[in-house]
This record gives sequence, C-alpha cells and structure tokens, in this order.
Amino acid sequence: MSEFVITGGYVLAPDMKLKRADVAVGSGIITQVGECQSAEQTIDAKNCIVMPGLINAHTHTPMTLLRGACENLMFEQWQKCIWNKEAKITPSDVHLGSLLACVEMIKTGTTSFADVYIHMDRAASAIKKSGLRGVLGWGVIEGFGEPLREKLAHRRAFVRQYNNAADGRITTMYAPHSPSTCSMEALGLLSRMSEEDNVLVTTHLLETRKEAETLKKDNCHLQCLKDAGLLSGRLLAAHSVWANDEDIKILSQHGVSVAHNPISNMKLSVGTAPVTAMLREHVNVCLGTDGAAPGGSLDMFASMRTAALLRRDRGQDTHLQDILKMATVNGAAALGLLAGQIKKGFLADIILVDMKKPHLTGHDPLSALVYSATGADVKTSMVGGEVLMEDYQIKKIDEENVIERVQKWIDDFNCWSFRELPVK
Ligand SMILES: [Zn+2]
Repeated sequence: MSEFVITGGYVLAPDMKLKRADVAVGSGIITQVGECQSAEQTIDAKNCIVMPGLINAHTHTPMTLLRGACENLMFEQWQKCIWNKEAKITPSDVHLGSLLACVEMIKTGTTSFADVYIHMDRAASAIKKSGLRGVLGWGVIEGFGEPLREKLAHRRAFVRQYNNAADGRITTMYAPHSPSTCSMEALGLLSRMSEEDNVLVTTHLLETRKEAETLKKDNCHLQCLKDAGLLSGRLLAAHSVWANDEDIKILSQHGVSVAHNPISNMKLSVGTAPVTAMLREHVNVCLGTDGAAPGGSLDMFASMRTAALLRRDRGQDTHLQDILKMATVNGAAALGLLAGQIKKGFLADIILVDMKKPHLTGHDPLSALVYSATGADVKTSMVGGEVLMEDYQIKKIDEENVIERVQKWIDDFNCWSFRELPVK
C-alpha cells in the first residue's frame, strides 16, 4: 500500500533515460514506477525531473565551520593551516558544523553521504536530526599521544554503537586518514576490524604528487594496503589523483571504489584524477565534494558539472549518463546502499529538480542537469520516504537559526584566535 505518489514528472530511470512515470512510495521504499494507483497523498512533480537523491561519496561535514578559512595555499600549507584550526574544534562545534552541512546537502539534493571527521558521535546526532542518510567514520591518524590500541578500541566502540542507528539511516565505517599517516600495524588492524564488523573502510589515497612519490619510494602505495588486507570491495578510496595505469588495474581487480572530488582537487592544486582511465578499467568511480573547506560547497551538481568539464577540457568523450551514474548508482554501490535508482524495492531517497527555470530551458534535459543545473534547482527532497524539503522549504531543521549560530561561531573563533602565528 503506497503512502503517497509522486505524479506528473519525468523520471530518471536506471538506464539514465527520462521517462514519463509516477512513483509510488510506501514504508520508506519505492513500491511502483509507472502508472500508479492513486493514493491519499500526492506530490506534484509537474515540470520536474524525479531522480535519485545524489550520493556524496566523500565529505567531512563539520568542515563547514572552516569554509574559506585557509585559502590560496598549496596542499601542505593548507593542511597545516587546517589542522592547526581543527585542534581547537570541540564536540559541540562538530555538531553545529554538521548540522549546517545537513541543511546545505538537503537544499542541494544530496540524500546520502560518506562522512569522516572527529567527534563523530556528535555529527551522528546532527545527522539523525536532519533525516539524511550517512555512512560515518571517525578518522584515524596515528600519534597525538594516544596509544594505537586504545585509539582503535575507541573507534571500534563508535562503529559498533552507531552502525544502523537512526532507524538504519546511519551506518559506520573505519577511516584510516591515509597510508602515509597510518602505520602498517594500524592498517592491518583496521582491515581485520572492518572484516569482523562487516563495515566499509575509507581512506584518502594518492591525493598529492608528494604523497604518491613518498609512498612509491617505499613501495608502499598500494602494496601496503594490499599487505594489510585492505584492497577489497569494502574499500572506498578518496581522490586517487596520482594513481598510474598499473595502480588503476590493481584497484579494479580488487573491486575498490574511488571517490572523485574534482573541485577540491582543483582548489588545492593537487592535480586531476585519471577518471577516464579508471572507467575504462571498470573501477567504480563515484563523486564527492570533499569538505566545505577544501571544496567550497557541498553542492553535488557543481561536482557533476566540474567532473564533466574536466574531461571535456582534455578532449575526452564525456557521456552525461556516466556523470549522472557517478553521483547516484556508483555512489550507492560504494556505500552498500539499496539506493541511487528510481526502481521498485529501492529506498525512496528521491529529489525533484524544478526544470521550469530560464537556465534549464533547452534541447536536452540531461545536459541541463549536468551542465546547467545547480543545487538551488532542487525543489523537494526525501530520504526513506520522509520529505525533508518540500517546495524549497526545509522541514526538520531551523535553517536560519543554524546559519546564524555558525556565523557567530566563526566570528568568535576568529576573535579569540587572531593572535595565532601565521602559517609558514
Ligand atoms: Zn577528504
């Protein structure tokens, strides 16, 4: 029995073609696509594309607090600047920053995301409140005075406590920061823990040339991950900008997913990921924004457009369907979600994109989605059949209040930290 029917729209079908169809939703899942019997409630999708909610495969939600904080720096200086500021971030700050990220994601059409940061129990409470779906990892960087075994025991407690929280909307994963900030011992232990707890692992991989050269000198870029047992379908590797042809073959052979973050990579001048080669080798490439500090925004439409433009800039064939799949189907596969497609039996994580706009009027609606739309064109958004935004109005969070609180936090933060020495 469907609880409501989305009527009158054009559905982006699993084959990435548009079809005139209604979508019925019941008990949080899509119960029918096509001619649907009328339900008590309907959502009018006239002039809209009804598509799967976008899946952000790599972000750090609390980093909304640091948006614009360390600009115009090369990667190593940027990382130093950010880590310096992050050292002062408290658990309640994480909650606030994550809440703002949730507002931004709902308003720009993201329904699921992979999120890694610190104090993730506080991020979890923000995500629970928002109604979004998140896969959360509490990052692991070795050192900082905490013995490894204690650190990993703490991460395991988080993984076990929060997996399947918020009626299953929150799941968890292990998150070694990168092979260059974690020892072989840590990587091996995390691999075993992820297998025992049957959860994903995510890590930054080959993001910068310097990291790639250092790891390759020690023959430890992919070999260390392989020796640790991490190269598998459970691994989601962010960036992989400096993966060479041989690396790409290895990633493919082991079923590793790659989260491509084109805007962050451009903004931090780290290079361009070899996405065309990865797709040729059938690597599951999905799309992310990275945090709002390195990426500027959490708008997945901006990520889609930039990913497409980067390939066009190199004269490469760029199929609109590939780009749309990266942001939906492939993201769902990487995160192990039965989502990312408007299909009977799939989670009702759905967005309505309002196409009756001057900049979306044209020959090809799919081209408009990739090259012309922005997150601000998302009119309605739902997760598991729960409507989080209807007709541009967010329902579960007081948007204005969150924006004001974050701006005040930023003003206070700059006030008491202005005496910091500048980063050299
Ligand atoms: Zn990242």
